[in-house]
Parts: sequence; structure tokens; C-alpha cells
Amino acid sequence: MSNSEIVEVLELTAKLLELHNADPFKIKGYSVAAFYLDKYKEGELQFMTEQELTKLQGVGKSTATKIAQIAKTGTFPELEELIANTPLGVMEMFNIKGIGPKKIAVLWQELGIDNLHELELACLNGTVAKVKGFGANTQQKILDSLAFLKDQAGKLRMDKAEAAANSIINELKKTFEQVEAAGEIRRKSEVVETIRILVGTDSPALLQNTIGSIGLLVQDEKKSSPFVWRGNIQDVAVAIEIVAVKPERLVNELFLETAGEDHLGLAGTSGNTIWRHAYYETADTEHAIYEKAGLPYIVPEMREGAGELAWAETRTPDQLVTWDDLRGILHNHSTYSDGQHTLEQMAVYCRELGFEYLGIADHSQTATYAQGLKVEDVERQHEEIARLNARFASENPAKPFKILKGIESDILGDGSLDYPADVLASFDYIVASVHSNLSMTLEKATARLLKAIENPYTTILGHPTGRLLLSREGYPIDHQVIIDACAANGVVIEINASPWRLDLDWRWIAYCMEKGVMLSINPDAHAMEGYLDMHYGVANARKGGLTKDMTFNALNLGQIEEYLRGRAARIG
Ligand SMILES: [Zn+2]
Ligand SMILES: [Zn+2]
Repeated sequence: MSNSEIVEVLELTAKLLELHNADPFKIKGYSVAAFYLDKYKEGELQFMTEQELTKLQGVGKSTATKIAQIAKTGTFPELEELIANTPLGVMEMFNIKGIGPKKIAVLWQELGIDNLHELELACLNGTVAKVKGFGANTQQKILDSLAFLKDQAGKLRMDKAEAAANSIINELKKTFEQVEAAGEIRRKSEVVETIRILVGTDSPALLQNTIGSIGLLVQDEKKSSPFVWRGNIQDVAVAIEIVAVKPERLVNELFLETAGEDHLGLAGTSGNTIWRHAYYETADTEHAIYEKAGLPYIVPEMREGAGELAWAETRTPDQLVTWDDLRGILHNHSTYSDGQHTLEQMAVYCRELGFEYLGIADHSQTATYAQGLKVEDVERQHEEIARLNARFASENPAKPFKILKGIESDILGDGSLDYPADVLASFDYIVASVHSNLSMTLEKATARLLKAIENPYTTILGHPTGRLLLSREGYPIDHQVIIDACAANGVVIEINASPWRLDLDWRWIAYCMEKGVMLSINPDAHAMEGYLDMHYGVANARKGGLTKDMTFNALNLGQIEEYLRGRAARIG
């Protein structure tokens, strides 16, 4: 380990100790050592004995012992313990400019924020500025820093990757006619490691020159060849490949560069793999490749080798859900809790987009960090909904737009919902979600969710694992047991469409459909424009093979009201 790496470990230790409010003396020991060793250039710390180390400025006896351990193993037990007691998302806050461990501790302990996504929401809705010692300036600094951090790391969420790919594609289209996204982007993967773009051209040299003239693209010359440009966008670590393909081979290469390996290995009735057909026989369309292999056509997003052939035995691609199939938007927040727009703004914009209903689902009372609704807030909101619905009915009596009274009820630690039964009964529908005490064993998390699913007031299970892509792993659950319970209790499962979540994971959609569990594509919008996240939800749903007839919010207003009346009648 180099000196600077050792210094980094000492600095991290000091920060974690401060975050956990440790003895200031102890914190100082590490930070002073890091300060002086950062300037020390005379020797290599990793080869020094403890005795030699203690002679250096700023290094005490116990720090010397730790340095020797770090040099050998990269860490030491006390640091490991600190890391184990700190959520990954809180550690990520160390990368934010303008707030130190003390402020991070306040965000974590007082506001319950343990990841960058919730921190961003809390800044956007002004919660952070109100905390003592923060203010509007600090809040803005955090937002700026978060925007910067999001563009980092080696992987990108699908929303960011798509935006980056489109900016390159638009530039290339000024010169070339045939420019196509392939790979994970075309397969609609929730997380992208490589942005792959194919360009149909007889002149690879022209392509290289064109790429060279696009600003912000940084080439990795060692990995590039005359036919394949490899590199990245400045300050964005995700890998980019731009491939020159002969125009007559474009369909074949697009197929080969899109499908996952397991899909390429699928054997057709021809006796050969689909890879062989695509590689050796020039085709005009991707449909023709499947035909030659004797296989049903599979849409690009499903080409994973994850059961798509079994799916296609009884279904056709035109049954897959599309944005146009969606009739309403469930699970949305307003200024009643932590949203940015009023209930009226949310409803009017929903109607403008052509939907028949808005399901509002603000946070429930226990979610104090998100201004969860007290019982009197619920009553106030229900009165406003009645007023707005009356107005909508008068504006279009033939086909009135309607707000459905929902709530996103916290699933409490013991699995119960967040209001007494009479309040729960006053909602049209309930999304039940876990937001607190996220570190659980698989057994505990599964039991907690099961109790919520068995609660007769639960309509939809919200973001089942609580994951935040590239930021928080989510608690472990037994998916099969959870889905079986939803089937037994008639509970719908959410596909949370926020590109941060995409939870339920698409890999479990087929099992839900097999068990007759409907899925709801919910944007979890905290502002009007959040509705558009349903594009990611639809893409992810299609990747998992979700059909229109199994999509809950593809039900029209009449159908969904009938469904909800049926649920309510069951409770009696
Ligand atoms: Zn939630
Ligand atoms: Zn929500």
C-alpha cells in the first residue's frame, strides 16, 4: 500500500468516528496522523516497523499499531466495525462537498436519511434548509454536489445511460444515417456498464474523425481499433463503444451486439444456435434471423436468455404492456407530504397527459421525515379530493377524471399498517411500503412484509425490497414466498418506476404472472414531471414480459373502482 492509500484509510477512520460521535481525543489521533503523514515523503510507511513509525510527527503508539495493520491487510478491526455499523448510503455522503461528518450525522440521526436519493428529495422539498445549522445555502451546495456525484462511478442507471447515449447518437446522426443503440441500452437494463452504439458505414476512418470532433468524448487508445472506438464521456466513468459496421451487416451486428450471451446460445428448431444464424447468414430484418432459426420473434428488451422462449410459447409481443395501455397513475406524492406540487397541480397535469385517474398516496403519519399525514391531514386531504372531483365531474360530465384517495402507509417494524382501522377504511386504496429499519435478516423482512400483505386493507405492496440502484442494496426477501402470499391475498405488487428503484425486479415478473398476481407500474412521483418515470417502468415491465392484461393500472377507471369496491366488500 502506498503512503497516500494508508493516509486515506486513516482519514476514513477519523470521519467514521466523528459520524458516530466518538471521543474527540480518539478522532484527533487519526486526523492529526493523517495530516502529517500526507506531507511525509521521506520513506514508505508500509515497510516501517511500529517503532520507526512512532518517531514520525503526529503518530502515537496506538496509531503506529494501526498503520502496521493497514499496511498488511488494508484495514483493521475497529475500522471494520465502524463500516459494518454505517449504511452504505451514509458513507457515500462523505463524497458530498460542503458537509462534514457532523452534519451527515444530523441528516442520518435526526431526519432518518441514509442514502443519496432521500437526501436529494429532502433538499428538493426544502426539509434540509430548515434544520438548525444548515440553511438554504448548504442545501443548494448539497444538491450541486449530488448532481456531480451522480455522473460518477463505473455504472449508470438506465435514465442517465440513455441520456448519455442519445447525446452521442444525435451528434453522429449529423453525419451518418444508420446509428443505433445496442447492448444494455437496447435491452433496457436497469443498470448499464457499457454504452454500445453501432454505425452503418463503409468508412471507419470517417467515423473515427467524426467521433474525434465530438466534444467531451475521451478515447482509450489502447482499447480502440480502426473499427471500434472505446472510451468514455469526460467525468462519466461508464464505458462507451462505438462500432463501425458495414451497412449490409447492420441488422446482423445489431442483433449480435444487443442480445445477452444466454440468448445468443438458444438453440432453434434448425438445430443451430441463433448466434450461428445471425453470425453466418446475412439478414434484412431481425424477424428473419428468428425465422431461420425456427424460433418465435423476441423483442430486444427480453433477449436475456431468462425464460423468454417459455414466455413466447403462449404469448405474442403485441400483448406486452405499452405506455398507451396505461389508464391511470397510482402512488404519487403531493405537498401534503414530501412532494413538490399541490394535489390540484398533480391532478390537472395527470389529466392533461390523458389519464383517467390519479391515485394520490402521500406518506403516512410515522414517516415524519417526509411530513407524513396525521389523521387530521388525511381528513383535510379527503375534503379537497371531494371538492376537486366534483369540479372535474362538472368540467367533463361524460367522462370525469377522478382522484382516488390513497395513502402510502409505512409498514411498521411489526408489519402492521400506520393508522387505526377506521382511518384505513377511509381510503380507496393503500400502498404498503417499508421505509424504516431497513437492516433486517431475510426471515425478519419476509415476515414483516407477509403481515402487511395479509392485512385486508393493503391493496398494493410498494417497492418490495427498498433497493436504490447503485446506492442501496435493499433488504433481502424471499420473493417466492412474498409473491405466493400476494396471490393468496389478492394483493397487487408495484413495479416502482423510478429509475432509482425499478423494484419489483423484472426477473420476478414471470413468476407473478404465473401465480396470477397483477403488477402496477407506479412512478412514485414527487413532482408532476415524475409521472414520466413510468417510461422506465414500462420498459422494465416489458423486459420481464408483463402483459397488458396483468397490469393493474391498465384497468380503466370503471374497472379499477369495481375492483376496489370488491376488495372493500371483502373486509365488510
Ligand atoms: Zn415509498
Ligand atoms: Zn412513495
